[in-house]
Amino acid sequence: MSDSFDVIVIGGGPAGYPAAIRAGQNKLSVACIDQWKSRDGSAAFGGTCLNAGCIPSKALLESSELYHRAQHEFSIHGIKLEGVGFDVAAMQKRKAGIVRVSTQGILALFKAAGVTPLTGHGKLLAGRRVEFTGHDGAKRTLTARHVVLASGSEPMPLRGVTFDGEWIVDSWGALDFPDVPKRLCVIGAGVIGLELGSVWRRLGAETVVLEALETLLPMADAAVAKEAARHFKKQRLDIRLGARVSGAEIRADGVHVGYADARGAQTLVVDRLVVAIGRRPFTHDLLGDGTGVRLDERGFVQVDEHCRTGVEGVWAIGDCVRGPMLAHKGKEEGVAVADLIAGQYGHVNYKTIPSVIYTAPEIAWVGQTEEQAKAAGRAVKTGSFPFAASGRARAMEAGAGFCKIVADAATDEILGVHVIGPMAGELIAEAVLAMEYSASSEDLQRTIHAHPTLSEAMHEAALAADKRAIDIPNR
Ligand SMILES: Cc1cc2nc3c(=O)[nH]c(=O)nc-3n(C[C@H](O)[C@H](O)[C@H](O)COP(=O)(O)OP(=O)(O)OC[C@H]3O[C@@H](n4cnc5c(N)ncnc54)[C@H](O)[C@@H]3O)c2cc1C
Repeated sequence: MSDSFDVIVIGGGPAGYPAAIRAGQNKLSVACIDQWKSRDGSAAFGGTCLNAGCIPSKALLESSELYHRAQHEFSIHGIKLEGVGFDVAAMQKRKAGIVRVSTQGILALFKAAGVTPLTGHGKLLAGRRVEFTGHDGAKRTLTARHVVLASGSEPMPLRGVTFDGEWIVDSWGALDFPDVPKRLCVIGAGVIGLELGSVWRRLGAETVVLEALETLLPMADAAVAKEAARHFKKQRLDIRLGARVSGAEIRADGVHVGYADARGAQTLVVDRLVVAIGRRPFTHDLLGDGTGVRLDERGFVQVDEHCRTGVEGVWAIGDCVRGPMLAHKGKEEGVAVADLIAGQYGHVNYKTIPSVIYTAPEIAWVGQTEEQAKAAGRAVKTGSFPFAASGRARAMEAGAGFCKIVADAATDEILGVHVIGPMAGELIAEAVLAMEYSASSEDLQRTIHAHPTLSEAMHEAALAADKRAIDIPNR
């Protein structure tokens, strides 16, 4: 095998592996180095997302939601079930199978695109050389015209709380519980904390979510956050805001979690504790001496808007650089960089990156919230449509939530779209496309939406922005 490539990508997560595939499609010689090891010690591409994040969490969210619906919803449809139960081991086995198929699929995609997979550690050295240490310990120095750093992120630890891998765990550990804890505490009511809390709550865990901030989902539109809080309460997901955790200790009767809130010092005793307070860039042993690549004060690799590090031929993408820590953001950066390297056009529109929270109801948005648009000095108009008024949603027994459009009052340009309700993560794609084309709310109003579909909620919300909705009274 050659030791010289056009492109070497360090990191094979959802940022790195698409960069490698696109570089291969662009007829460049490319290697992708990844050091991930699964629980059984085997090497796997796909990074956090495929192995310990997006995919396994969605597998368990789906299983637990189906169980919840079988218990609470099937009878409404007239479906009679007796003795609905679940088997955590079978759920975990299904999840592991999905992860395996997904990660092995990357190797097949690499083969098709001519990418050389290298399992082990990669370290950038000065002069675009890369020291590769295989999982067997053998070292080689590789060279490349371009190096793409895609080393990802890791869970943020919390002072006073030590992971033991069994009772006090991070998000990966929380996806691997062998049984349902009777009492569960999740620290952090962010996207990951809410998703993991939902999985185990639906399966019966008494779940407390401790959040240091005073506001739930401050990044979401306020109306969406309020609606979400109402549903989480109904689901008996006990979210305690303004709760600052001071420490945790494993004792004979469980994990003792100390925290302070407006009422003073509190202690909570649970069977398992999950710390999900956020993630930080992972750049451990990534950069050798004299590479010239700089990290910012929070540890992110410094890049410009095109993911250039400032060092000729060295790029960085995904969670290890600024911007939202999302798989699809990393993927777009990877593809754009691989196209730029090949002398083609490459660009990421950071204004149209959708966010999705896979709770029930699902939450998704793109662009500005009403509050952000107003704070930026825009005069806005908004239109909302409740799923309770959607025939399809009612037929699905999924009438909770709404779709909301925020548009510029003068130009009618869509500034943001916010959905809480069934399939919100799918519905938001239309809004992303609309905003990518700088659509107005009138453009959406004049677009035909099939009936009866959930997407009509988007159509009606756009109409409501001009008080022209048909299926709800306009106010
Ligand atoms: C529980 C959970 C759920 C999530 N759900 C979603 C979701 O639904 N949607 C979404 O968009 N995002 C989700 N995320 C976030 C998503 O996983 C990340 O944004 C995404 O994985 C980042 O991709 P990346 O390629 O930048 O980094 P990573 O996925 O972290 O991949 C980096 C890879 O590089 C390897 N690596 C690091 N350093 C080196 C080195 N020096 N040499 C060789 N290899 C190295 C790592 O082992 C890893 O395999 C979730 C995260 C978690 C934890």
